[in-house]
Amino acid sequence: MTTTIKTADWLNRNQTQFIEMADTIWGHPEIRWQEFQSSKLQADYMEEAGFEVTWDIGGITTAFMAEWKLESADGSAGGPKIGFLGEYDALPGLSQKNIAVQEAIEQNGHGHGCGHNLLGTGALAAAMSVKQWMGETGTAGTIRYFGCPAEEGGGGKVFMARDGVFDDLDCAFNFHPGNVNTTMKGSAVGVNRYYFRFHGRTAHAGAAPHLGRSALDAVELMNVGINYLREHVKDNVRLHYQITHGGGAPNVVPDFAEVFYYVRAHLPEDVAEVSERVIKVAKGAAMMTETECEVVYDSGSSCVLSNHALADLQYEVMQRLGPIEFTPQEMAYAAEINEKNPPGTKKYLQTSYGLTEEEVEMPLLGQVRPSLDEGRVMTGSTDVGDVSWITPVSMLITTCWPTNVMAHTWGVVATGRTGIGHKGMMYAAKVMAESAVELFKDPARLQQVRAEFEAQIAKRPYVNPLPDDCMPPNNRHPLR
Ligand SMILES: [Zn+2]
Repeated sequence: MTTTIKTADWLNRNQTQFIEMADTIWGHPEIRWQEFQSSKLQADYMEEAGFEVTWDIGGITTAFMAEWKLESADGSAGGPKIGFLGEYDALPGLSQKNIAVQEAIEQNGHGHGCGHNLLGTGALAAAMSVKQWMGETGTAGTIRYFGCPAEEGGGGKVFMARDGVFDDLDCAFNFHPGNVNTTMKGSAVGVNRYYFRFHGRTAHAGAAPHLGRSALDAVELMNVGINYLREHVKDNVRLHYQITHGGGAPNVVPDFAEVFYYVRAHLPEDVAEVSERVIKVAKGAAMMTETECEVVYDSGSSCVLSNHALADLQYEVMQRLGPIEFTPQEMAYAAEINEKNPPGTKKYLQTSYGLTEEEVEMPLLGQVRPSLDEGRVMTGSTDVGDVSWITPVSMLITTCWPTNVMAHTWGVVATGRTGIGHKGMMYAAKVMAESAVELFKDPARLQQVRAEFEAQIAKRPYVNPLPDDCMPPNNRHPLR
């Protein structure tokens, strides 16, 4: 007789190894496309655990897929194919000690300011516990863990999506650390990222300015044009820029200048339309300044298609598991960090996440909540969006940092290697694993998830946003 292992129990018994993995990644933060140690650590672990590892997914040297499958006893059925999406990239400039005051470990160093040390490890832990359960119960099927690089500004999954690695999945599980336990039913905007490179003519800025054609003038005029364009776009459009090259000495008319743009909008047709208008502004600036404009597509991602059936399933599992219990020490640590956040954060949380006035006063929110974002479009973007157009994807958020902390700030790093982050990560692993088990056990439930997805895709088929010649950087992986 086989005994059924509940994935949550297995995760409780085996949590130390996952906490150690998340802490190791936290302690060695690597930014986009350079996740050498983090990817190697996870791939080696999965290989040792019996998964088959394939590197270079999507042409990215720090991307890998770990697959494990079990055929039915008579070899007749393959069972469902379920994916788990992991990430492990850090952010530049967010180095931070494991303390409740803002203090860098290394000035301008990297830090896990979006909690991806927890994100990747939590998804890996979920895949591991489902493997244990499948093995113990003899349940046929395939599980895949995807080590996805460069979520921050690189869109690793979009290259992986173009390569077709998600095509035959029945669904995929994904979670993101945050300050509430909830499942998302809303969307997030898509994005195109471009470099605009202007080429002019150099001259002595004092002696012969009339002979020069300033590339920097073109960048500045382009930015002015964009700032007028803002008035005439839809509400959820966001246009951000950074001047990445502005010339050298002020007494030299610069013959080269560069500006980096993010063009965000909700639906793919909106992103395409606003991008065309941005390119027109760049060309106008080039015409005004008699310079040449080179448009270089850097990366992009599509908006998120959320799956309500998966969200409901995860909410049921969360209700079964109950809230995350935080200790008084963890509450006190979180309260100390909360106090240091800018005024206005609480108001922002109330309006964006639907939290009450009492809730925003709590240091940590361990309770379970239904979706808070149905019908809403978040104005950030994620490369999970592209996976969500290929297979149904769960959008789970668990409490890994204090209530008033926002992603991409020091408070996230300060909590990412504490009991708070660890509890949120293990909780997410349990929710994803138990939900996956439900889908293995109940084909009708999986069918419901698929049917919702297929209805969405029938209306608007997926088009990968990357131009054919847009490739990820080909960094040599020094540890492979
Ligand atoms: Zn993130």
